Order: sequence, then structure tokens, then C-alpha cells
Amino acid sequence: MKDRAVHMMAFSPHPIDTEWGIGGTVARMAKEGKEVVYVVATNGDKGHMDPDMLPDKLAEIREREQLAAAEILGVKEVIFLRHPDLGLEYTLDFRKEVLRLILGYRPHIVATCDPYQHMKYFNNSDHRVLGRLVLDTVWPTAIAPNTYRDLLEEGYKPHKVQEILLWQTPEPNFYYDISDTFDIKMAAFKCHPSQIGDPVEAEFADRIKESAENAAKNIGCKYAEAFYREDVLQRL
Ligand SMILES: [Zn+2]
Repeated sequence: MKDRAVHMMAFSPHPIDTEWGIGGTVARMAKEGKEVVYVVATNGDKGHMDPDMLPDKLAEIREREQLAAAEILGVKEVIFLRHPDLGLEYTLDFRKEVLRLILGYRPHIVATCDPYQHMKYFNNSDHRVLGRLVLDTVWPTAIAPNTYRDLLEEGYKPHKVQEILLWQTPEPNFYYDISDTFDIKMAAFKCHPSQIGDPVEAEFADRIKESAENAAKNIGCKYAEAFYREDVLQRL
């Protein structure tokens, strides 16, 4: 694993977040033969409003749904970190766990949710924590080997991620044309009935279509996904 070089590594707080945010982009990359690896940080075991839906059962369903969605998108590897839902905390141990993945898979692009999101006051704590922690891991941690002498001894080498893509961003500055893969995104999205209903609730289907159409207006195509994109600083 230590000499992999994948095109993109996508860090998702919960099952479904990646489909929602960048499913069309992932499908397009996979079609172009570029390797995308998914990392799902939590097991999604709290995201249900029915008191009869117990956490263990929900976690099992969510994992199954996530694997089905990844398969439709052409993602061959999904890494489940299985942290408790609504339980992510910014700790040095968690950052080391993410660092180990970045140094091992050596992605060109790292994608995750924008920690500052759309909503000013209410947003999900897992999204805040993961987005912030992944950014801090990409830069400066990954290029500062004195923060991980132990991993160097295990054979890991420093890695410079080239680019970050943040979805669910209040400040989009980059749009990816997903006109050819929007249907695949929708099909993958529908693999999550425990979150969006079966058949999919109209509200969710409308929202996803509307946001793809709105993003597309910026680049003159039918459907797009919006990101905050930045080249990663290549030095300390
Ligand atoms: Zn989420």
C-alpha cells in the first residue's frame, strides 16, 4: 500500500455524503480510468429519527448501502473507519489515522466536505471536524516528517497532495461538468434508502437536481458539481 498513487482520495463524514457532494465527479473520474478511493469516517449509526432503529442495525445497513453506491460509481475501494456517528473529535490520534492513509495511498487530489459549509449556525459536528482535520493533515502535517518519525520507521514517506476539492462549500470557485454522469450520481444516491427513502423522497431528488443545474450555469453545461478548489502549498 505504501507505494500506491491514487488520483483522488475522498474523505466522507458519513455514508451518502460523497454521493451527495461529488458523486458525478467521482463517476466521471472512474470512467476516465482514474482511481478514486473512498474513506468513510463514521458508521452513520445515529442518523435516523425512528427510535426503533437501533444503532448496530443502522450501521450495518449504512455500510451495505455505501458499498452498493460505490460500486455504481466505479469506486473499487471503500475504507470504513467506523467512528461513532456524531462522535468525531479533533484529536492527534485521529489525525494520525488520516495521515497514515494519505501517506499510504499518495493521492494527487484530496476531497472532503468544506468544514464551514453552507449553514452559518447549524451544521453537523462530524462535517466540521473531518473537513478541518483533513485539511490540516494535507498541509502542513503530511510534508512535515518530524511530526511522524514513527511512520517513517514503518516505511512511509512524506507526500505532497497537489490539490484539494471541498464540497458543500459556501465559496465555490470551481465547477466540474457532470452532464454525462448525472444519471450515475442519481443511481448511486438511490442506493441509500435508509437516508432518503424508497422510493427516494421528492425533496431529496429535487434538491440534488436543482443544485447540479445551478452549478452548471457557471460553466454553461447541463449538470455540474461545485467546489472550493485550491492548489496545496508545496512547502512549509
Ligand atoms: Zn454527513
